[in-house]
Amino acid sequence: MLIGVDWGGTHIKAAIVDGANVRAHASADTHAATALDAIAALVKQLAPAPAQVGVAIPGEVRDDGRCWRLPNVPGFENVNIGVQLQRRIGCPVAVENDATAAALAERLYGWGNRYKSFLLVTLGTGVGGGLVLDGSLRRGASGFAGEIGHVLVDSSTDAWPCGCGRTGCMEAYAGKAGLLRKYAEFASPLTSVKEIADIGGAAAEEAWRQMGHALGNGLASINNTLDLDAIVFAGGISNSLHLIERYIRKALAERAFAPPLSQVPLLVSQLGEHAGVIGAAHLPVIHPAQS
Ligand SMILES: [Zn+2]
Repeated sequence: MLIGVDWGGTHIKAAIVDGANVRAHASADTHAATALDAIAALVKQLAPAPAQVGVAIPGEVRDDGRCWRLPNVPGFENVNIGVQLQRRIGCPVAVENDATAAALAERLYGWGNRYKSFLLVTLGTGVGGGLVLDGSLRRGASGFAGEIGHVLVDSSTDAWPCGCGRTGCMEAYAGKAGLLRKYAEFASPLTSVKEIADIGGAAAEEAWRQMGHALGNGLASINNTLDLDAIVFAGGISNSLHLIERYIRKALAERAFAPPLSQVPLLVSQLGEHAGVIGAAHLPVIHPAQS
């Protein structure tokens, strides 16, 4: 029996995982000051004395187990979340970036069974990613492998600002804020991606076009370097891949170095909303606990 926790910017979800199946789960809202206590309580609610736990966090984890920072959850700079949780739960706790954990789930139970080298791209509030090369999950030297959201796609002086403090990042155009901003240039502002998908029309099409163009430009540069077998999209906005795919394809055709690189399959994750907890639950299998 494996226990996984997916710590998101707004919700924490814990689950008992059996292979690719979620047997039971529990969730709570994320409050920065009490997040670690909430995670421990959710885990103990599902399993009073677990042997090991894996946790996916909304940030990157260094080799020494400390996270750099959690962009949407203040107060965790340089905190060793694994050690902090081990004290609360009483067993080893493996910790990894959420998109990297989702890529692990896809590697084990999704498209990874067919494609050896793929980038999993998470589309939601931000744009993240996890990388599997030649069948192996890659976390890089400092935990940032596959984090594609801040690839430069616009170097002009009026490039849009990104949440990271720079300008012109892919996420500035392909994240939720960029999509809503583009829509509002042509129509009355909306507050959710779902509203844009539901309402359709010319303004929505402009928003999808910009999002697909930014993703395609960034992914072309990535694929010119990595020569992937597939690109897999996950996260809430991946449900709208059919609305942006032609724009991604157009940009790939313009920017990829050679036809095999522009014709890379674009896929939606097979794991759906549970990818994070499934990947997290399997972290202890591939990572030694950070203690
Ligand atoms: Zn950025």
